Amino acid sequence: MYVCGPTVYDDPHIGHARSAYIFDVIRRYLVYRGYKVKFVRNVTDVDDKIINKAGNEFKGEDLNQATEKVARKYLDSYHAAMKELSIIPPDFEPKATEFIAPDRPAMQKFIQNLIERGAAYTAGGDVYFDIKKARNYGKLSNQSLANMEAGARISPGENKKDPLDFALWKKAKEGEPSWDSPWGKGRPGWHIECSVMSSDILGDEFDIHGGGLDLIFPHHENEVAQSEGAGKKFARYWIHHGLLTINGQKMAKSLGNFVMISDFLKKYPADILKIFFLQAHYSSPVDFTWEKIEEAKKAVQRLEIFLQKVCQMKMPKKLGKIIGIDFVKEKTDSFIEAMDDDFNTPLALGHLFDLVTETNKFIDSGKNDLDYYDKIDAAAVTLQHLTRKIFGLSLNNFAKDGLSEEEAELILQRQEARKSGDFKRSDEIRTKLLKEYGIIVEDTKDGQDWRREI
Ligand SMILES: [Zn+2]
Repeated sequence: MYVCGPTVYDDPHIGHARSAYIFDVIRRYLVYRGYKVKFVRNVTDVDDKIINKAGNEFKGEDLNQATEKVARKYLDSYHAAMKELSIIPPDFEPKATEFIAPDRPAMQKFIQNLIERGAAYTAGGDVYFDIKKARNYGKLSNQSLANMEAGARISPGENKKDPLDFALWKKAKEGEPSWDSPWGKGRPGWHIECSVMSSDILGDEFDIHGGGLDLIFPHHENEVAQSEGAGKKFARYWIHHGLLTINGQKMAKSLGNFVMISDFLKKYPADILKIFFLQAHYSSPVDFTWEKIEEAKKAVQRLEIFLQKVCQMKMPKKLGKIIGIDFVKEKTDSFIEAMDDDFNTPLALGHLFDLVTETNKFIDSGKNDLDYYDKIDAAAVTLQHLTRKIFGLSLNNFAKDGLSEEEAELILQRQEARKSGDFKRSDEIRTKLLKEYGIIVEDTKDGQDWRREI
């Protein structure tokens, strides 16, 4: 599985989080279903945006070193965010600059091969892919050649024959980072790195290629053209995820509406962002609003309250009878059926909430059931297993931590007020606990229960 990774010139935002999380869940699910997954996610560590940033952030410094510094800084930032989100690291994380280095000029070799096969041509130190030589150019993004031609232009300074031809190798500009090649000093175009790194690590044909819908054209279309032009079979399946907007708008510097992953995580735990993402199918667009995040928070709380409740029940013993228990098995099967159907996470998640609802009903009404505790335990264990293994949720954000003396005193006072029938007083204390201490108190048939707000 090969996924197009970040271009490291800025801190990652929640659009990056969605992309990474979607492929994390797909990977986790494939492993859960017994597949061996070799997961590759590349890093674009040299391109115009990185070089521009280097010029701004490290003014007056050598541009080669500044470019490396920028790439390292923002790759570190990306890694830190992925770690905080508990995204499993890729098995391989190739960097573009590793595949153009003098000791491993894999991109130069790939381009040379395309030239020898007549699929690419040199033009004054640049090398272009000749799209007229590609079979079915446009088939991945489902566009006609005429349509694509209509939108393409040749910019000043470009020496290409056809507006749709794209650069495989760009001649070095004064002072910019560059590498040796048979066509003189320069650096690779963006598209070539993914064709080269995917086949280098996964072979000439591999199963899944993933990325955002915005990459389907031209990036992935060009990857197909390059790899097929070099006689390779390339990806068997493509997975493109929908894009993320904020309050109905595209995230853009000019709008100042970026939500950085680190800023989000200062306000909410990762589980809440993940549940929000799971509520939409990966192929759909998602519109981020803080109201929806509050809704997702409630959903996470619902799952955690259920797990806490079961945890606090005095189970006689754990028999571990999980498979074969009627409603638990039924919901697990439905969950798998939904995930098998193109990773339908909203439906799968719905089945888990149904499991919680049914178990809650059973807790209240199933007292005479011989397997009363086994069933409740099985439901909780199954819920934890599926949410952790496949959705990567922790579900321990609301875990109880110790009460201060004052808080404990108030909770005790409320208990006594209820015992003596002074409900006005008990309501007052409940409000005080919530407003001043962020403690939520709920009455259950076993007495009052409390937990902290996030
Ligand atoms: Zn790519």
